Amino acid sequence: MRRVKEPTYTKFITGELKRFDERNTGFSRGALEGDKYTVMHERSISNIEKLIPGKTILDHATWVSGRTADYVLRKSKLARETPPIYNHKFRLKNPDPTAMTRVIKQAARWIGADRVGVAKLNPLWIYTHWGQHNAMYTHAAKHGDSIEIPPEYDNVIVMIHGMDYDMMRRTPNVEPETDIGYSKAAWCAASLATFVAELGYKAIPSVNELGLSIPMAVDAGLGELGRHGQLITREYGPRVRISKVFTNLPLVPDSPIDIGVQGFCEKCELCAKHCPSRALMTGERTDKAWDQSNAEGIMKWPIKAMKCFDWWVKNGTHCSVCIRVCPWNKPNNVLHKTVRLFAERNILTRVIVFMDQFLGYGKQSKPEGGGQDPSVSKI
Ligand code: SF4
Ligand code: SF4
Repeated sequence: MRRVKEPTYTKFITGELKRFDERNTGFSRGALEGDKYTVMHERSISNIEKLIPGKTILDHATWVSGRTADYVLRKSKLARETPPIYNHKFRLKNPDPTAMTRVIKQAARWIGADRVGVAKLNPLWIYTHWGQHNAMYTHAAKHGDSIEIPPEYDNVIVMIHGMDYDMMRRTPNVEPETDIGYSKAAWCAASLATFVAELGYKAIPSVNELGLSIPMAVDAGLGELGRHGQLITREYGPRVRISKVFTNLPLVPDSPIDIGVQGFCEKCELCAKHCPSRALMTGERTDKAWDQSNAEGIMKWPIKAMKCFDWWVKNGTHCSVCIRVCPWNKPNNVLHKTVRLFAERNILTRVIVFMDQFLGYGKQSKPEGGGQDPSVSKI
């Protein structure tokens, strides 16, 4: 791993980058066009009755339970300024940015984050307007409301929440790690924002709301953008969720990192080849957009967002196949740390990709029911 001056995406910028409108994300378009979230959840319920292995009532109960904290915190804490609960009187005097960064990272890890980084907030990553998806789930604004983060929020603390390797192997059956990952992300962002607020500083906690988490995480030295449009971290590969806290607390930003993802993705196309909806691109990067869901001005592998989301709707649950099959998705043990030394240097990339398939990594796991008959009757 190398610390670098500029994030690795900067060398692929070809034109003017503009703030993205959240109304154009696949999730927001899907929520508005045909109310696809409702259709997906109805499909999830009808799958229960069909007794589809991996999509039974037991699987269903697992993912919904995993979401509990996320649903509550999105409606009450995320995407809003966090007021202090008790301390309305004092403010930490003259915080030393270096020491404060250490304190914030300790606090974030104590609260439950797996990795923490700090970046200067790049206003380009803030959405211009709210999309239906996050507006609907947070109740913090309406679809189409404009978004402005005041300039005093000059730092962003980004947290990484790793997801369990074996649980992720269930996808595209019900895979509840994403759901509990969102709950952990919401909990950590909301709790860290309270920590900052009690110090007398400003904090806005957020998970997917308000801005693009992936470039913020890249800026904060937590990973790189992969072909599948996900953040690839060193320790968990793409098997992560991201949360963030915007703040005016004086902090020292981390340097971005280069872990070799750009060169690796140029030779590996596993995510694109295994994507059930053909939403991901094989071949060379492009700075052309498929539609309004892709940002322009940067060479990458744009995603056909609606193809992806339509497949989730058909599947009756979200999909993480592109995460499951990615060779960076490995347990962080000695064997894989050793292979990673080669992967990071783009040595033997094609051999690593071939062996990954040959040894059966990235395969879907068989559904388990714990011995309980999943048959249902009407309530
Ligand atoms: S989530 Fe599934 S459908 Fe969407 S891009 Fe990834 S593999 Fe394809
Ligand atoms: S599966 Fe391969 S191409 Fe896709 S993101 Fe992972 S490393 Fe890159």
